[in-house]
Formats: sequence, structure tokens, C-alpha cells
Amino acid sequence: MKVWSISRAVGLFTGDSRALLIIISGAMLLAGWVWLQENPQHNPLEPLDLNDPPGWATAGKLSDLSGNRALCRQVLTRSEVPFTALPGVGDGPCGLPDRTQINNPVIVPGNAIATCPINAGLALWINHGVQQAAEEHLDTKVTRILHLGTVNCRRVNSRQNAPWSEHATANAIDISGFVLENGEYVSVLQHWGEGKKGDFLEAVRDSACQSFRTVLSPEYNAQHADHFHLDQGTRWARVCR
Ligand SMILES: [Zn+2]
Repeated sequence: MKVWSISRAVGLFTGDSRALLIIISGAMLLAGWVWLQENPQHNPLEPLDLNDPPGWATAGKLSDLSGNRALCRQVLTRSEVPFTALPGVGDGPCGLPDRTQINNPVIVPGNAIATCPINAGLALWINHGVQQAAEEHLDTKVTRILHLGTVNCRRVNSRQNAPWSEHATANAIDISGFVLENGEYVSVLQHWGEGKKGDFLEAVRDSACQSFRTVLSPEYNAQHADHFHLDQGTRWARVCR
């Protein structure tokens, strides 16, 4: 009798704790789901919106855009990034199958031809890296980002037997400086490692690593003393330096 009542008590206890566990797990799952709805940048199932800050799922979603022009251009449209879709030209190592003209007014000279993933990376970087860094380190905004070019049919470092550069397919952009709202200029060549403008440049370089696969700055080598090289190439492991 005694044994029966103990086992019944244990049985009831087990039943209660199981129900409690189910309720707690359900509540946690619900809370997690609500949180993911509010933070789509962490949710791999939500489509990419370049107006959202970078999150856990952003790098994967950006990688998905490489080689998928239609998906990438959908993302630009959804994120209200201005661009012009142009037909591809040529083939081989310097063919340009993805010509997505950069119409973002902040990028100067305007109307440069690049791949769609470069357009996407720039939008994310400007929205969530460049402007924040300018406010934090220089108490102003960036009105212009100056670039040296995107397309260049050459091999890496122009060496004869090196692999083809991402510039050969317009999958890269070289950034040389930034014009601020107060008219001042921040130059990668002049201000890298120099005071507050240097702090701004370092923050901008670091944030670019959340928007681009490869980021090379003056810290990488002497060939990048006067610009940041940003590309979306998927052939190599990520580089951020
Ligand atoms: Zn470059």
C-alpha cells in the first residue's frame, strides 16, 4: 500500500513536471519566434533587407546573392537601393555577365558598373557602417564616398600568372576617400592611422567586413596604402585586414 501511494505520488509529480516543461519550452519557442520576427537580420528564413542592420544571418544571405542576379536585384528593389540593370557583355575571364549600375548618389563618380552583390554590399555598408562611424568619430555625416574604379581586366596585382582579379568581372570597388557634411575630406592615403579621421577610417574598414567578402586596407600591404579594396569574390576564404 505504501509503495503504491509513493509510486502514485511520483507518477503525479512526473506528470506535473512534464506538463510544466512543455509549457516552459513552448513559451521559450514562442518568445524566440517573436524575437526573430522583430530581428529579421538574425533569421536565415527571412529575405534580406539592406535597411536592417547586419546580423547573424546576414553573411549567409549576402553569399546567396553571388551568382544569382535575379535574387540579388530583387533584394536591391525591396531595399529601395537605386540601380540600373544593364545586359551582360562578353565572356571569358573579363566577361561582365552581371552589369548592375551603381546609382547610389553617395558613390562618386556616379553610374559606375559593378556586380549586383557589390551594389548590395555598398548599400549595407553605407546604411550601417559608414554613417555610424562618421557620427561616432567625427560627429558629422558622410555626403560622398569617392572610388577609383570597379572594372579592370587584369590579374591580381597585375602579375602575369596570378589568378584573375575580382575587378576583371566588376566584382570589386576601390574606395579612396570620404567627403563630410562640413566639407572636410578624409583620405585613406593621408589619414590612415592619423587621429580622429584615422579612427573613423579604421571603423569604416572594420564595418566593411560585414558587407563584403574581402576587405583590404593600408594594413594589408603597400599596394593598398591609398585605398580600400572591397570585393564579393567567393573563390577565396574571407579576408578582412
Ligand atoms: Zn581593388
